Amino acid sequence: MRSLPATGRRLLQAISTKHVRSVLSSAPLTTARMAPAKALASGAAVVAAGALLIPTGQAVAQGAHPADQTATTAATVQAQDFRLPVQAAPQSEQAKTAKAAVVASLDGGAGPDAQARPQDEQASRSEQRTELQAAGQDTEQEQAAAAAAQQQAVDQAAAEQAAAAQAAAQQQAAEQQAAAEKAAAEKAAADQAAAEQAAAAQAAAQQQAAEQQAAAEKAAAEKAAADQAAAEQAAAAQAAAAKPSWSSPAPGAAISNPYHKTNAAYAAGYHTGTDFAVSVGTPVLAVGDATVVSAGYAGAYGNQIVLKLSDGRFAQYAHLSQLGVKAGQHVGAGDQVGKSGNTGNSHGPHLHFEIRTANQYAKVIDPVGYLKQHGATNF
Ligand SMILES: [Zn+2]
Repeated sequence: MRSLPATGRRLLQAISTKHVRSVLSSAPLTTARMAPAKALASGAAVVAAGALLIPTGQAVAQGAHPADQTATTAATVQAQDFRLPVQAAPQSEQAKTAKAAVVASLDGGAGPDAQARPQDEQASRSEQRTELQAAGQDTEQEQAAAAAAQQQAVDQAAAEQAAAAQAAAQQQAAEQQAAAEKAAAEKAAADQAAAEQAAAAQAAAQQQAAEQQAAAEKAAAEKAAADQAAAEQAAAAQAAAAKPSWSSPAPGAAISNPYHKTNAAYAAGYHTGTDFAVSVGTPVLAVGDATVVSAGYAGAYGNQIVLKLSDGRFAQYAHLSQLGVKAGQHVGAGDQVGKSGNTGNSHGPHLHFEIRTANQYAKVIDPVGYLKQHGATNF
C-alpha cells in the first residue's frame, strides 16, 4: 500500500493537469492550474468523478479494495489518455454550473440539465462530503476550542487545587510548628517543675540533715551535761563516803582524865566521862548523825550540848565556851557544834564528854570505847 503523501501527490498531479478537464468537462488547463488548492480540496470528488468518467471497461478501480480505491482511481485516471476539447467557457462558469447541479441534486430536485445529472449527483455528493469535511473542520475547531477551554478550566482547577494544597500544606506546617512549639514549651515547663522539685527535695534534705545535726549536737550536749552531773554526783557520793560516820569530839586531843576513874568528889563516886585536854576555843565536833536535844547553860557542867544519836544513845559536851547549835537541829558526824572552854565547875580548860544510855546523870558508858566500836579512829 502506498504512503498517504505519495497518494496525495498523485492526486494533486492528476487534479492539476488535464484530468481536471475530464472531471469538469470544460475547465481549461490553465485555469485548473491556477486553482490547485481548490482542486486539491475537491480531490476526493474529482477522483470519484474521474472514476465515473473513465470509459467503459476502465472502471476497474471501482471493484478494488476501498482502502486503495482512491489511489487506484487516481492512477487509473492518470493512465487514461483523455483528450477532451478545450472549451472557451470560463472555469468559474463551469464550476457554478456543476455546483448548481450538485446543490439541486442535494435538494432532491431535478437539475436544469437532466442529462448531466449522474455526474452532477456525484459532484454534489463530493461537494457535500467536502462541506461535511469543512463542517467537520469547523466542528473540530469548535471541539478544539472547547477542548482548549476545557483544558484551561482543567488547568485552572488544577492550579486552584495546587494552591489549595499549598495552603493546606502551609496550614499543616503552621499547625505542626505550633504543636512543636507547644510541646517544647510544655517540656520546658516540665523540666522547670522537675528542677524546682529537685531543688525543693534537696532543700528538704539539707533541712533534715541540719535538723538531724542540731538534734545530734543537742543530744551530745545533753549527754555531756548528764555525764558532768553524774560525775559531780559521784564525786559528792565519794566525798560523803570519805566523810567518817563516827568521829572523836576533839580529834587528836589527849585524854587528861579517863572515864570511870574513882573520885569521891563526884556524886557517883567516879568520873562519869572522859576529859580531853584542849584549850579554850577549840572546835568540838558531832560524833555521829544526831539531833540536838539541848544547847545551854547547865550548873556544874557550865555551857552544855546534848545530842541524841541515831542508835538512841546520848552524847554530852560540858564546860563549853561557845554553843554553835540549837535544840532540834540535825547534825552529822564531824560537824562543829561549838567551842571548848572552862565554864561551870571546872578547874582548867578541857572538854568533858559523856555517852549516856538515857538522858540522866550517871547513866553512862565508856565514850572512847563506844566510838571506837562504831569505827571512829581520829583520837
Ligand atoms: Zn570530866
